[in-house]
Amino acid sequence: MSPLRVAIVGFGKIARDQHVAAIAATEGVELAAIADPNTSLAGVPHAATLEQLLREGPAIDAVAICTPPQVRRAQAAIALAAGKHVMLEKPPGVTVGEIKPLMSAAIASQRTLFATWHSRFAPAVEPARQLLAGRRITAVRISWKEDVRVWHPGQDWIWQPGGLGVFDPGINALSILTRILPQSLFVTAADLAFPANRDAPIAATLAFSDAQGLQVTAEFDFRQTGPQSWDIDLDTDGGPVTLSMGGAKLRAEGKQLVDAPDAEYAALYRRFRDLATTGESDVDLAPFQLVADAFLLGRRRSVEPFEEAT
Ligand code: NAP
Repeated sequence: MSPLRVAIVGFGKIARDQHVAAIAATEGVELAAIADPNTSLAGVPHAATLEQLLREGPAIDAVAICTPPQVRRAQAAIALAAGKHVMLEKPPGVTVGEIKPLMSAAIASQRTLFATWHSRFAPAVEPARQLLAGRRITAVRISWKEDVRVWHPGQDWIWQPGGLGVFDPGINALSILTRILPQSLFVTAADLAFPANRDAPIAATLAFSDAQGLQVTAEFDFRQTGPQSWDIDLDTDGGPVTLSMGGAKLRAEGKQLVDAPDAEYAALYRRFRDLATTGESDVDLAPFQLVADAFLLGRRRSVEPFEEAT
């Protein structure tokens, strides 16, 4: 079978850090082109925009949309209308409502729409899901704290409306949580700290529950210096369970059950390739809905301005 020819749209940090290598590592997928206003890759056909790429570029079967979320829906709609399979970086867009028309467009064009959650492909997530399936969970605590200056240098879009601020990494925790717990969760409280000069939160304290009254708390913070944390601690009737390092490590019964290297993006591309063979879509909006609800219910506090340079 001929390989899936993928164009990366938006050649920024994540495309360079992960997508290029993951495509190269995936059988049946090849990097055919890049669309980005300012950045290219030697030896790969380049266009400044998706529209120009579709008009003048080489033949492609699919796009991996890695632009900031504010421009992603329009690009996905254009790509689907042109008959291309679409992979969306997370979060899938800037509103929950804008995804449904894309799902309809994918069905109409018989093309794949894959709204990715890369953290769900972290090596300890599936083992954690299986372990927890046989247990009663009594409490969950999430700590997702990273230094925005290290992980998102110069990314102004993250502070714009729709950029999500600290929920940009925080949604990764929620994508794991909504995968490893079988039941639906909902937001019960949210405290959102907005820098006085920005339109997106720099920190959030959240509470969630389920129909049985499970208590889930989450601390998201972009101001973390020193050790960073991407941890989920669960109290269960079989003892504590900890997923750490963004889902790379799993500890339970006093033992390290999983500690494996990152291979999230190669797994994403294998999934995209397989979906594209049938035109099936994979869109789960549960993590995005929780974020949207946190913004709906959230108490907003103004905190000190955020400046990129300290
Ligand atoms: P980024 O470094 O700012 O990259 C975005 C790229 O898109 C930039 O090269 C930008 O060009 C380009 N771009 C902007 N508008 C465009 C358009 N209309 N058409 C084509 N290209 C356009 O951001 P990122 O960190 O890669 O993040 C992108 C997405 O990936 C975000 O949703 C983020 O949540 C997700 N993600 C990021 C990470 C991470 O570690 N950074 C991890 C996982 C997922 P200019 O800069 O020249 O405007």
